[in-house]
Amino acid sequence: MTTIANVTVLGTGVLGSQIAFQTAYRGFDVVAYDINDDILDQARARFADLANIYTKDVPGAADGPADAALARIAYSSDLAEAVAQADLVIEAIPELLDLKRETYAALAKVAPAKTIFATNSSTLLPSDLKASTGRPDRFLAMHFANQIWRFNTAEIMATDDTDPAVFDAVVEFATAIGMVPIPIRKEKAGYVLNSLLVPFLNAAAELAAGGYAEPKDVDNVWRIATGAPMGPFQIYDVIGLNTPYNILSHGTPEEQQLAAWLKETYIDKGKLGIATGEGFYSYGK
Ligand code: NAD
Repeated sequence: MTTIANVTVLGTGVLGSQIAFQTAYRGFDVVAYDINDDILDQARARFADLANIYTKDVPGAADGPADAALARIAYSSDLAEAVAQADLVIEAIPELLDLKRETYAALAKVAPAKTIFATNSSTLLPSDLKASTGRPDRFLAMHFANQIWRFNTAEIMATDDTDPAVFDAVVEFATAIGMVPIPIRKEKAGYVLNSLLVPFLNAAAELAAGGYAEPKDVDNVWRIATGAPMGPFQIYDVIGLNTPYNILSHGTPEEQQLAAWLKETYIDKGKLGIATGEGFYSYGK
């Protein structure tokens, strides 16, 4: 049983729209906040698309529940108005440190004292942001995966300052919106998922770029020997090659060589993964 009833989501882009819709779908009143009314019009279209996706992909969503979720979402480009009733604010604005800090400083001035703040940041630690929240005891990270209706983890990561009762309240909330909460009690860049996935994908790239084994054979070994449904290069194609490329190109000299290999062999040829019809595999689009 969660004590959280009213939720405001800051940012209505890829992840913010999904978080807001999933929260509304599970019966919460949601305010979707973004910086201006034009972007909120785009948000309305995103939510309508999500309602269609849920209708097709989520059992029980058709004939009412997806439309009911749309009706539970209110829209605002006025920060004070958007958070006036909020028990929880989930921030999903661009991954820019200064922008996030400025936004938390503005939020701190207008949000009620009771409001919990949660960042969906993928790469920043909550400690990078906590000073600007004005309430480090009521602040933590809650990290969702893209396509949250299918990939329903919520990695919940505290700082040393987070009140354990706030942590528990957010774990309960995550469960209430249909996520599997993954508690992370010490800060870790990459949370659990990317702490495992990034080295795994890098190791696979080393094998293929070094000429040890073809990507399809690396995948075959992984699938057959571990029973996993997908090999690392299938995962690259799902994620899209640009994101791993960006991570590798900021890494060690060896990682930068892997980035160059990805770029020259695949990205420069338009092979970006499933989204472009071809990556390590061809998808016949
Ligand atoms: P996005 O660019 O799709 O959307 C960002 C939204 O924030 C836009 O609608 C933009 O108008 C809005 N915005 C910009 N400045 C704002 C402000 N000051 N206040 C309120 N809204 C503002 O970005 P995204 O991919 O949804 O990523 C958002 C956050 O979620 C990032 O921290 C990212 O690390 C994280 N995240 C993304 C993914 C993913 O797969 N895209 C997965 C997990 C976490």
